[in-house]
Amino acid sequence: MPRYELKRRPIPQAKYQSTSQLSKSQEDAIKHRNKPLIIFGGPGSGKTTVLIAAAVSRINEGQDPNSILVLTFGRERASELRDAIALQTSQTMLEPLARTFHALAYSILKAEGKNPLLLSGPEQESWIRQLVEGVEWPTELKPALQTRGFIRELRDLILRATERGWSADDLEKNGKQYKEEFWVAASKFWKSYIGTLILNDSDHGEPKERLDSAQLVWRAAQVTGTGFKKQFKTILVDEFQESDKAQRALLQNLATNDLLIAVDAQSTVGRFRGADPDGLDQALAPYLQNGTAIYLDQNFRTGGQTHLFLQKVAGEFRKAPRTQSALQKDSQVIAERFVDGANEAAFIADKLQRAHLEAGFKWSEMAVIFRSPAQSSAVRHALVRSNIPVAGELQVLSENSSIAPFLLLAEAAIKGDLSLETAEQLLLSEFGGADAISLRRIRRELVNKYSATTGKPGSELIRKAITDGEYQIAGGDSLLRLHELFEIAERVAKKKNIQPEDLLWAIWSNAKTIDNELISDAWRNRALRGGARGANADRDLDAMLQLFESARRFGQRFRYADLGEFFKDIRKSEIAGDVITAKGERPDVVELLTPFTAKGREWKLVVVAGVQEGIWPNLRIRGSLLGSERLVERDRHPDLAEVELEQVARAAVAEDELRLFYAATSRAIDTLVITAVDREEDQPSNFFDLAYEFAHQDIEPKHYVLTNQLSAAHVVSKLRRQLINENSKSAAASLKALAEAGISGADPADWYGAKPAASFAPAIPEDQSVNVSPSGVEKFDECQLRWFLETHGGQDGNTSAQLIGIVLHKFAELAEVNKADLEAQLQLLEANWKLVDPDTGWMSRTSLSRATKMLERFYKYRASIVGERIFKEAEAKFEFEIGRAKVRCTIDRIETTADGLLYIVDLKTGKSKLTKAEAQTDAQMQIYQYAVGSDSAGASLLYLNSELKGNEVREQGPIDRKFVAERIESTTVKMGGAEFIAIKNKNCQFCPVITSCPIQIEGRGLYD
Ligand code: SF4
Repeated sequence: MPRYELKRRPIPQAKYQSTSQLSKSQEDAIKHRNKPLIIFGGPGSGKTTVLIAAAVSRINEGQDPNSILVLTFGRERASELRDAIALQTSQTMLEPLARTFHALAYSILKAEGKNPLLLSGPEQESWIRQLVEGVEWPTELKPALQTRGFIRELRDLILRATERGWSADDLEKNGKQYKEEFWVAASKFWKSYIGTLILNDSDHGEPKERLDSAQLVWRAAQVTGTGFKKQFKTILVDEFQESDKAQRALLQNLATNDLLIAVDAQSTVGRFRGADPDGLDQALAPYLQNGTAIYLDQNFRTGGQTHLFLQKVAGEFRKAPRTQSALQKDSQVIAERFVDGANEAAFIADKLQRAHLEAGFKWSEMAVIFRSPAQSSAVRHALVRSNIPVAGELQVLSENSSIAPFLLLAEAAIKGDLSLETAEQLLLSEFGGADAISLRRIRRELVNKYSATTGKPGSELIRKAITDGEYQIAGGDSLLRLHELFEIAERVAKKKNIQPEDLLWAIWSNAKTIDNELISDAWRNRALRGGARGANADRDLDAMLQLFESARRFGQRFRYADLGEFFKDIRKSEIAGDVITAKGERPDVVELLTPFTAKGREWKLVVVAGVQEGIWPNLRIRGSLLGSERLVERDRHPDLAEVELEQVARAAVAEDELRLFYAATSRAIDTLVITAVDREEDQPSNFFDLAYEFAHQDIEPKHYVLTNQLSAAHVVSKLRRQLINENSKSAAASLKALAEAGISGADPADWYGAKPAASFAPAIPEDQSVNVSPSGVEKFDECQLRWFLETHGGQDGNTSAQLIGIVLHKFAELAEVNKADLEAQLQLLEANWKLVDPDTGWMSRTSLSRATKMLERFYKYRASIVGERIFKEAEAKFEFEIGRAKVRCTIDRIETTADGLLYIVDLKTGKSKLTKAEAQTDAQMQIYQYAVGSDSAGASLLYLNSELKGNEVREQGPIDRKFVAERIESTTVKMGGAEFIAIKNKNCQFCPVITSCPIQIEGRGLYD
């Protein structure tokens, strides 16, 4: 019989100030009884310590712990407070002593016999998205209805109105009174939305009411009777500044005389979700009337430079907070500007690495704070590259690269089909295990084996191999594995009454890695091994749990919704979800956070990164379309004129941004690092300037250049330079030691050039002919290496741009062969567009519109040559030999001039264009002219892409046939040779083999 032992994880020890160091004001606050007390204090002043001690002292005096309620913001914070109090008492508690306002509201409604289901932010947005088209909206809003931004604005408007106690009727009335016409439209939607919130689920007992966070608290505030008021003799509120109007109303209903409220207006971080720092005076007034206030003026967190800098930031508020005294300790403020984000990220990685190795800071004693999660990816990658373990809380689920394949496959299984792009993405994911090179090989082998018989291009064959398992090749395990997984997922998706979590489970429990190991096992094993890879696997497992939890909640809340809705929502969601997994000891990792998630915590070293103009401060008025910000201010200032109200709203946003900066910078104990990029199109903000001036005093601003990064890769490359340039013995010894320790790049056997060339033989034996295409000659002249690699497998499959090109050439041919007019051709194009792009989103619509414009341009060209030349032939094939060259070509279009000569037209659908001079020597047109013979009157390139401005045609005059023949011959010799030179050119940025190019930074993997 197996024996299971359940062990509680260690309780996380949040660091609160020791009670032996309490200040006189703190002691007074702890002893205070029977009258409301407001505790004011800045960051690090020990407000939470006071609340914990106040709860513990009451319990020690014999008060029943169940009569004490501690309210705070955030589930994690509530859990920390609960644990901190529990560790100091052995009393049993029936209910959680510390809770969020939402948890309290939920228990109140449950106790009243209600059955609420709380909708999270993404869930509410999903519900709104499903209903939004059900009411009439003003015409100008209609195109925006399904956009993420509109749904978010609508949700914010409803939430802000609800928090302020407005009904849908109030919104309509105020909309009319203040000429906010969108409020009137939104009020209609709101009414219909409220009507759908009752979930009548006959299979699952009582009807449930879905409530958003603001409704939940208002409902509780309305039903609170004497029962709850009697239950809580003492109420302690932390972070009161984060509460909204509804929460304040709930507190007022419950408040007793033994009430302690801790507040710091300047540290508010949750205004975007309803916190109302500007209404604090009004909210506290009733308590101050029969109570008193205490000010905590000592900063227990930091001292020295960081404290001075904090005071400087505080001085920027409209109403500066009281000055704090600080600890006697050293600390530093560093502010640096960089030429780009990569340098900024490398500097941050270096700072953390040095603090860890030289100053002995644990990883978990350091954090990086950004204004928004979207800014974090460059730093995350830099930290991972430097082997620094990183936590993953900031990531939006849809952006987690390990989760993305699960979402893609689930959506494809629901549809029963894949797009070409999805098929490739899945092959390149952990499911397929392919990389760019093996993907090319798979495509090539499928094409070789099946293209001739099926007429299908490579990408289509890949797609079919996954969906139908039809096409198999030797070494095609990735395809087979994906096909089997797709089949399982599709089978489950087709079942009746399937919930998103069932489908996810089917994929999760069957997905395998390239080594045939279950992905679930592979992630777990990686996580258990620890280190940077372990931290990544931990993060992925957390994200997967989060995904399952979201799927479970979705199934519960929207039982009858379409299965695909959930996956669509997750993909569209920009909100970094809550961390729902239980937290034990925090792992030893660096956290990437926002001011909101960093709230209430502290670290020895804090980096505040990406302090850019337009980002931090972000002075854009929130909800500017539907006016949620105006609603907040309108509620506070009902009599202000519109212009003044706008100014008030702008000032409130500016103050809010400063508060976020203040909250972020006040998390540092020893070292505060502030960074920004400074380049023409991306400037540091005035917040950064404040820090830079403070850190550098009068020194002229200049970019920081990191010359000596502390990472294994940089140490190795420095030692290698020393060894080669100075013949240094110590560098050789260090490299030997590093190589023995398994550090990559340290062993000379791996160095570029250390291995002899495998062969010096020519690519094509001298007695054999060389297949040459006119475009190949052109490409070869531009860059020999690219030509060589592309003609030997280094080519991507048909991209959508290439597919559009193929389609346009076909339609240009049909225009002549069928004598079809433009209108008929456009209809045909639209009707068959799905064959080009099976997706239905805006990208597909954009490509169709691009193709339409190209076709229109082509017809315009046809009209322009009437009377000058007439059409002779389309897709004309030629074949000839010169020396070793065997030239084959297909000419898009040949026309006849009035003199009976031949004129060549080559259609171009890409975005690059030759200059007039370049067109004169263009090899492709020269070879076409050579191919048609001495009757050639010239050639031209016809540019169809409407994004290209200026003349649509580039002409080439008649050629010197002898010169062209020599050009073909000499190029052919080099094509068959043994050496291919990389030649930098203007098209390098589009080069598909750039990662194999030794003269480009992207190709440094060849020799690093
Ligand atoms: S990146 Fe530029 S130089 Fe390198 S192979 Fe490609 S085209 Fe040639």
